[in-house]
Amino acid sequence: MDSIIRDDIMQEKKNYGDISVRYLKGVGPKRSVIFKKLGIENVQDLFYYLPRRYEDRSFAASIEDLKIGDERAVRGKILKCGVFRARTGTSITCAAVEDATGRLQVVWYNMPFLQKHFAVGKQIFLYGKIEIESRPVMVHPAFDIMDEAHGESLEIGRIVPIYSLTQDLTQRYMRKTIDCAIRDHLGQVRDTLPTYVRARKKLVDFKFAVQNIHFPHSPENLERAYRRLVFEEFFVLQVIMALRRRRHARKGIEHLAKEGLLDEFEKLFNFEFTREQKKCIKEIEKDMASARPMYRLLQGDVGSGKTVVAMYALITAAENGYQSVMMVPTEILARQHYVTISKALMPLGLNIRMLINGLGKKEKDIVGAELAGGEADIVIGTHSVLQEKINYKNLGLIVIDEQHKFGVDQRKTLRQKNAKADTLIMTATPIPRSLALTVYGDMDISFMKDKPHGRKTVSTSWAREEQREEVYNFLREEIRTGRQAFIVCPMVKDKDPSPMASAEGMFKRLKNEAFRDLRLALIHGRMKTEEKDRIMKAFRAGKYDILVATTVVEVGVNIPNATVMLVLHADRYGLTQLHQLRGRIGRGEHASYFILMGDPTTDVSRERIETITKMDDGFLIAERDLDLRGPGEFLGTRQSGLPELRFGNIVRDFKIMEEAREEAFALVTKDPELKDPRHLGIRKSITERFHGKVEL
Ligand code: ADP
Ligand code: MG
Repeated sequence: MDSIIRDDIMQEKKNYGDISVRYLKGVGPKRSVIFKKLGIENVQDLFYYLPRRYEDRSFAASIEDLKIGDERAVRGKILKCGVFRARTGTSITCAAVEDATGRLQVVWYNMPFLQKHFAVGKQIFLYGKIEIESRPVMVHPAFDIMDEAHGESLEIGRIVPIYSLTQDLTQRYMRKTIDCAIRDHLGQVRDTLPTYVRARKKLVDFKFAVQNIHFPHSPENLERAYRRLVFEEFFVLQVIMALRRRRHARKGIEHLAKEGLLDEFEKLFNFEFTREQKKCIKEIEKDMASARPMYRLLQGDVGSGKTVVAMYALITAAENGYQSVMMVPTEILARQHYVTISKALMPLGLNIRMLINGLGKKEKDIVGAELAGGEADIVIGTHSVLQEKINYKNLGLIVIDEQHKFGVDQRKTLRQKNAKADTLIMTATPIPRSLALTVYGDMDISFMKDKPHGRKTVSTSWAREEQREEVYNFLREEIRTGRQAFIVCPMVKDKDPSPMASAEGMFKRLKNEAFRDLRLALIHGRMKTEEKDRIMKAFRAGKYDILVATTVVEVGVNIPNATVMLVLHADRYGLTQLHQLRGRIGRGEHASYFILMGDPTTDVSRERIETITKMDDGFLIAERDLDLRGPGEFLGTRQSGLPELRFGNIVRDFKIMEEAREEAFALVTKDPELKDPRHLGIRKSITERFHGKVEL
C-alpha cells in the first residue's frame, strides 16, 4: 500500500506548496541553511511552524496614558531622529514620536542602521516597554513604519506571533517571510482534511487555519485555527494507525484451541485463574483462532499474572504445530521465565529452550539448530532471539514481555521473522489510553485490572536520612523472621558528587558496617550473565539475606520470600519505575514493605515520592507520571515510536485525538487505499508530514 501511495504523490508533487524556502523573497541559499536548523525546508514547513506565543499588540495606547512598566502599542509621527555614541561605545538611536496626546522618547541600542528608516514626518507603530531614565522612554521597541508596510502591519496593531528562533533570525524577518509564503503559496495548497470531515467536526479550512495561527485576527480565530491544526495532526496519525492495522489484516495463521484446553491448562497450576486472566485468555484465544494475525497489547499491573496468560498463547501455538518465541529484556528475566514456564508446561511434553548471550557458543548453536529444524517448540530469550542467523522452522507466535524496554526497531525485527505470526506484547507499565492510542493505536489492547486473590498490598513509606538507623533495624527484624530484602541503588559505580548512590559502594559499606553479620550479595547490569544467574539463584534459594541491586531487578523478578525493598536516593527514579520496583515484593503470603529513602531536592521529585506512597494502582500512577514527565520521557526508550507532534499535546488534547481517531478509522474502512479524490490531501500528508517519522 505504501508504494501505491507514494507513486501518486510523486506525480502530484509539483502542484503543492513544496517549494523550498530558499526561493522566497529575502531568503536565498545562505538563509535557507539557517531555516533548516529550525526544521524548515519548504513553504509547507513554514506554514506549520507554530509560534511559541503571541503578543497582543492590537490596541494603540495614547501617549499621555503610558505608565512606567507598561508594555504597549503606540502609534505616532516621527518628529526627529538621531544616533549618539555613549562613552562606553554603545550607539544609541534616539527618536521623538508624537501623537495627539503627547510626546514619547524612544531608544534603541546598537542599531544605528535604523536611523535611515525613520524619516521625520513618517507614521510609526511601536510596541515596547516604558522605562524611566530622566523621563519616561520606550526602550528597544518593535516598530513598523506605516507606508512601508503593505496596508497592514505585521508587527503592531494586532496579535503578533513570537517564534522560537536561532540567533541568526529576527522575529521581524520571520514574520515577513511567513507572510510572504502565505501570500504567494497558501492558495495552492490542498487541504489535508476532506471537506466532509471538516463540516462534521466544524473545523476551519487550511487557509484560514494557517493565516490565523500566524496572524490571528482575534483570539477566537486563533483558537479555531489551533483546534483545526491539532485535529489534522491527530487525524493524519490515526489514518496511519488505521492503515497499519489493515496491513496486519493480511492472512495469518488460524491457531485453533481445542475444546477444553483452558480447563486442562488451568489444572497445571495450583491456583485458580482470576476473572481478568480468563477474560484476556479468551480475547487472545479468539485473536489466535482468526485468520487475521493477532496484534495485541496486554497491559496488566505488576503481579497481575500476565505470564500465565502468555503461557496459554504458547501452548495454543504448540497445539497447532507452530513454534513460539518469547522475548524479554534481561537475562535474569529470561532465566526466570524459562524455569517457570518449563516447569509448568513440562507435563505437556513441549520442547522449551532458552537463548541468551550468556550461553556458550556450542549451546547457542544447538538451540539455533533446533529452532531451524523444528525440534524446539518454544524459545525464551533476550534480544539474542532477533539475530539474523536465528531461523525458525515455522514460527507462529511472538510474545514480547515488558515491551517498554524494547524499541520499535526490535519489535519490528522480531515480526519480520514471520509476518504472519500472531504477536502478543505485554507490559507492566500501564500506558495511559491517550498514549496507547498514539503509539500503539494500531493494536488491540487487553487490560488486566485486578490481581490474584490474597495478594497482600505492600505498605509504602518514606524515610528521611535521620531514620536510617531505624530502617536498618527494621530490615534486620524482617530478616530475623526468615524474610529477605532488596536494597536498590540508582547506579552501579560511584561517581564523585554522590558517593553512596552506587550499588558497589553501598554493598561494601553495608557488608563491612551495618550488616556485617548478615549474608549480602550484589547484583547489577554490568556483571557477567553467569554471575548474575548464580546470584539470583542463590538469593531465591535463600542463601542471602539482602540483595544490593541496581534497577536490574526492576523488571519481572519474582522472589516471593523477599518482603522488604529499600530504595535509596528515591528521588532519582521515575514514578513508574518506583512502582515497578515495588512490584518485586508482596509476591508471597507475607506482609511486605517498600521503603523509600531520600531527600528530594525538587518539587517534582517530592511529588513523585508522595504519589507513590499514596497510590497503588499502576494505571493511576502511569497517568500521573505522564502528567509529570510528558510523553517523551514517559516512554523513555530512544525509539519509543512516539511521533513528533507540532501542535497536539496527547494529554491535553486527548478529546480531539479520540474524535480524530474515529473519523480516521471510518475513512480507512471506506477507502482503504485512499483512492477517493477527496482523500488526496490526507494521502499527501501521510507521506510528507510524517515521512520517516512514523512507520507506515
Ligand atoms: P506479572 O503480571 O507481573 O508478569 P507474574 O505473571 O509474574 O506477574 O505473576 C506473579 C505471581 O503471581 C507469580 O508467582 C504467579 O505464579 C502468580 N499468579 C499468577 N496468577 C495467579 C492466580 N490466578 N492466583 C494466584 N497466583 C497467581
Ligand atoms: Mg511479568
